[in-house]
Amino acid sequence: MNPVRVIERKRDGHENTREELEFIVRAATNPNAGLMSEAQLAAWCMAVVWRGMSAAETAALTLAMAQSGDRVDLTGLPKPWVDKHSTGGVGDKTTLVLLPMLAACGLTCVKMSGRGLGKTGGTIDKLESIPGFQTALSIDALVAQANQIGLALTGQTPNLTPADGTLYALRDVTGTVKSIPLIASSVLSKKIAGGAEVISIDLKCGSGAFMQTHQEARALGECMLGIARELDLRLGIEITDMDQPLGCAVGNLIEVQEAIETLAGGGPPRFRELVIELCESMLATAQVQGGKAAACLDDGTAYKKAEEWIKAQGATITLAEVAKLPLAPIRKEIRAQQTGWIQRIDAGIVGEVVVDLGGGRRSKGDTIHPGVGVRVQKVVGETVTAGEILFEVYAAQDPSEAIQQLSTAVAYSETQVAPNPVVIERLA
Ligand code: URA
Repeated sequence: MNPVRVIERKRDGHENTREELEFIVRAATNPNAGLMSEAQLAAWCMAVVWRGMSAAETAALTLAMAQSGDRVDLTGLPKPWVDKHSTGGVGDKTTLVLLPMLAACGLTCVKMSGRGLGKTGGTIDKLESIPGFQTALSIDALVAQANQIGLALTGQTPNLTPADGTLYALRDVTGTVKSIPLIASSVLSKKIAGGAEVISIDLKCGSGAFMQTHQEARALGECMLGIARELDLRLGIEITDMDQPLGCAVGNLIEVQEAIETLAGGGPPRFRELVIELCESMLATAQVQGGKAAACLDDGTAYKKAEEWIKAQGATITLAEVAKLPLAPIRKEIRAQQTGWIQRIDAGIVGEVVVDLGGGRRSKGDTIHPGVGVRVQKVVGETVTAGEILFEVYAAQDPSEAIQQLSTAVAYSETQVAPNPVVIERLA
């Protein structure tokens, strides 16, 4: 196959054939085989950014990428096999609560999660704030644990969707991440290779998310649904609010502690609402009986499942002990400047502040301080009196700059403000 011709066809607005897409994926899987150079792969990605892809092309690319490396085989495990994916947000500790809830409801969850880069934190970094918790399970260990307790989670293995690994790294440095079909195929190829047959996508929308507007989020959701139809996947998509941080806690250990509070039946109301909605939606997509999500938080079954989970993955202390671990030692409060209603708490700014405090990475090799973070004490639409605490900052070093930044994240209103709904739209 002539790679220049493949790129030119996309450049000129034609559809690439399945054979052409499989060729591109082979080239990305074997970068040293000389099928296509990095420059050619990146040029093709840029042509996709401008020209887009049809549903059939996007599905063919997704399937070829899913088949480009190892696949997790869940044969023999109780069905349905489910997985969830969030497009990433500030304070997004959803996986930590939703996975034990789904397992407590009788579903089998096997999940691969990533580390954080930039303002949206990663689940693996959060879990690593639990002493002893192992985040690098082999595929065999992952499947064995899911068989035993109904859930297992690991970091991305290098040989799962290697074609996506190559293409994503190239897209990252060539301005070609922001393409709806490339994002959709990248996400769903990893879910398919991970063995799931029922997938829930928490598509975040707002200042703290990748997709900043409802329109962009819906376009990505519809593209994913197109892939699901072509490949016969069961997919549920919720577009959820990420204009303000999710819950109160933003950081690593602080988010794990808030997840534990939520598993124990408490937690911030908007976060509890989100995990209940996502759990019920997953039960509906998996076509099993619903109505169990709130109960499993309130009757302790999700908490018990989470306790089994962390123990199975090597935690050396219990959830109750994790909940009492100390945060970073310097604690500062930021207080409201005005009386009125909270109009905005910019999730993007809060996320950036936590990265600056050392809770996230600016580049891949950066180390993380698990104990730093921010607790947001108000939500949009709440009333506030001048002098009330808006944020608590936990820092390892002088947080003056963080405090300065955080004060720009808040806007006040003199009239009542309606917050965005937690779930903005459900696509199915
Ligand atoms: N996350 C992914 O996994 N892939 C993308 O292309 C973008 C975000």
